[in-house]
This record gives sequence, structure tokens and C-alpha cells, in this order.
Amino acid sequence: MLKVAVVNLGCPKNEVDAEKLVHLLIEAGFELLAEVDQAEVIIVNTCAFIQPAVEEAIETILSLAEYKKSAYCQALVVGGCLPQRYGSGILKEIPEIDLLFGADGFAQIPAAIKNFVGKQPQKFNLVHQLCDLDYSEINPLLQTISPPQAFSYLKIAEGCDNRCSYCMIPMIKGKQQSIPIETLISQAQKMVSGGVREINVIAQDITAYGRDLKEQPTLCNLLTELLQISNLGRLRLLYAYPYRISNDLIELIAAENQLCNYLDIPIQHISDPILKLMGRRDTSKDIRLTLEALKTKVPGIFLRSTVMVGFPGESETDFARLLGFVEEGFFDYLGAFSYWPEDGSTAAKFPHQVPDTIKDERLQAVLDAQRQVTEKRLRAKIGSRERVLIEGLSLESDLLLQGRCDFQAPEIDGLTYITEVDSDIAPGTLVDADIYDAHEFDLFAKVIR
Ligand code: SF4
Repeated sequence: MLKVAVVNLGCPKNEVDAEKLVHLLIEAGFELLAEVDQAEVIIVNTCAFIQPAVEEAIETILSLAEYKKSAYCQALVVGGCLPQRYGSGILKEIPEIDLLFGADGFAQIPAAIKNFVGKQPQKFNLVHQLCDLDYSEINPLLQTISPPQAFSYLKIAEGCDNRCSYCMIPMIKGKQQSIPIETLISQAQKMVSGGVREINVIAQDITAYGRDLKEQPTLCNLLTELLQISNLGRLRLLYAYPYRISNDLIELIAAENQLCNYLDIPIQHISDPILKLMGRRDTSKDIRLTLEALKTKVPGIFLRSTVMVGFPGESETDFARLLGFVEEGFFDYLGAFSYWPEDGSTAAKFPHQVPDTIKDERLQAVLDAQRQVTEKRLRAKIGSRERVLIEGLSLESDLLLQGRCDFQAPEIDGLTYITEVDSDIAPGTLVDADIYDAHEFDLFAKVIR
């Protein structure tokens, strides 16, 4: 039985891929180790969406390559976005790598590793061309990474059909391939029967779900079916393209208690000339109308977004519009990034690139403005009664339980700490709790008996 360790880098979408890979390896008879030091095979699932992620991936690979000098490690396997973006040249650049795989074709990996280890070692390259990417092998999976968690991610599509001028994802992941509803229901049922109470629905653009499938189901069709699963605690929607947020979707969020009053809507910018250069489909008016409809029809909804500062051609006026929009407080949480000219992207060739010093100043101004908005919004929660999903003992202290309200997404927003620890409350339980304090991004609460 070969001992394997999987190191995952990047976003929740990559976490789902790593889980899929682990499941396939266990099915193929590999023993999964939590640590790399005694692994005979080390697999790194990389992210290469932006340059800092590429650098992190290369540093991680080089540090893990050191284990090949030990008696244990016989194969270093690298997969995911980095090989899909840069191809087999990586094998020459980092000769310690033995096997490459790309964005798809996971089912071939266990056999390829077995062939490599113990037989005549010959480097493998399983990276497919973009036009050949095939995600149809995505099967219902069990939660295999232990310990089981109260939440999980359900990836409903791979790839993206949008063509934002700064983004390499369509060049890495290919065109959108939605996963059929029956497969997703089966996968979600297995998650829930394995103890998951909160399912987070993800894709590059969840609002485009189903457009590539024969029957063209919509996101609302899928959600309506998912909501029928018994014992499902709640569903959360991440990564919605504002242009495609329909009235039906807003009304569904308003009507269904199990759909979190929460939506992650990456808008990227608010100034029309910049939105146009970015290749985004919305205008600032569209975005405002969508956000106002959400805030009106779903009172109390929490909205998260992502914006980019310093896009080529971003003038003082464009930036003032963005900063003013953030100060208006539409978003309760916001991720902000400086634009980075990604090799191979359309925007990298645009004139009027913004100097780094100005990008840094603008980024800081946006982050400062948002911090005030978020703090105010969270402080307004003091005195309210909320449903909290208990995740277990706090990582900070055994005297605290940690959980999340429905307006706190896992791994990105803050936590709710339960300060009267009760050993009766098992991870995965949904409890009512009174919020009595807020500190930066976290809340403190007492459970109601
Ligand atoms: S919607 Fe735009 S930014 Fe998001 S993955 Fe697709 S192309 Fe990239």
C-alpha cells in the first residue's frame, strides 16, 4: 500500500478537486497521510490564477522536492492550474517533478503513480490541451478528508465562458462544463448523510449554471432540488456574476429559510469605463439596481464582493467612484486586490498601466473604508438572535466553541464564538444564540436554551 500525502493550494474550488483526488487514491488502495515527511508519494495541487499564487506554488514544490533526498519519497507529483497554465516546460524547469497532471483527468492519476513507483521510472505528463479538457468523470464523492466538517463545498461547474480581460481562468480551466443536477443531488445527499449541515455552492460563475447542458436547467432549478434534501441545514451561494442575478434567484433567497441571507457577488469595479475595459458585462447602473433589489427584497442580507484597484487606465475619477461606492456600504464584506498584469491576458497589453505606488495607496484606501463599513454592520448585530452552526472547539481556546451565523461564510468571513462551552453541543448542530459583542470580524454569543 503506497503512502501518499496531498498538499492543496488555492481556493475552495481547488479544495474540492483535492478531495476528489484523495477519494480516487483511497479507492485505488493508497494510504493517505496527513503529513508529508513519511510519504512515498507527495502530490501538490496548485493554483496559478494570479502571479503571487504561481510564486507560492513554485516555492512549495521546491521545498517539497527536498523530501526526495529522504528514504521515503519516491515520487513528486504536481497538478492543477500551474501545469495547465504552463504545460510540460515545468518538467524541465523543475526536474525533481516526476508526474504532471492538469485541470482534469484525475481518474488516470492513481494508475500513473503506481506505474511510476517501483517500475522503470519514466516521467509522465497527463496535462491535456485546453480544447480536450473533459470534466465528465466528476462522480458523487464521499467526504474523505478527515475529520468530517460541518460544512462542505459543492462545485456545480468547471471552467468559465466569460472573458474578463485580466483573467487567466478561462485559459486554464477551459469553457464552462456544468455538472448535471442528478449528479449534484447525489453528491450533496452523501455530504449530508456524512454529517455536513451547510453546503456552499461554488463555481467560477454560479449564475451561468446549466447553460451548457442539454435541458438548460437554471441555478434556481438546481437550488430548488437541493433544498429538498432532508437534514440539510443550510445552503450558501458564492461567486454570482451580477449581470445574471435574476429576480427568480432573489425571490428564492427571500422565500427559503434554508438559503442563507448571503451572496458573494464579485463586481471588480464600479466605474463604467473600467468595467468596459475589464470586459465585464454590467454597467454601474446594472450593478446598483441588482444590489438595491437584493437589499430591498431580502431585508438584512449580507453581501460580499471583490474589487480590483489600479486596472490599466484607472484614473483618479474612476478610483474616486470606486471608493465612494465602497463608502456607501453596499457590501458588508469586501476583498480588494491590486491589478496584476497576468502573462497571456488581454489586459497585460493595455496601455496606461498604473504605477505600483499608486495601486498600493488605492488599495489601502479601499481596505480602510471597508473596514469601517464591516465593523459598523457587525456591531449592529449586537443584541440580535441568530442561528449559529457549531463547528467545534475554537482553535484559539478550549474554553470557546466556534461557529458561524448564516451571514458568515467559511474560511473567509469571521466566526461566532460561543463563550459558555457546553459539551452537549456537537459539531454540526444549529443553535439559536444571542449576540452580545463584536470584535473586528468576529462575534461573541450565548446559546439560548
Ligand atoms: S467571470 Fe471573469 S473573472 Fe471570473 S473566472 Fe470568469 S473570466 Fe475570470
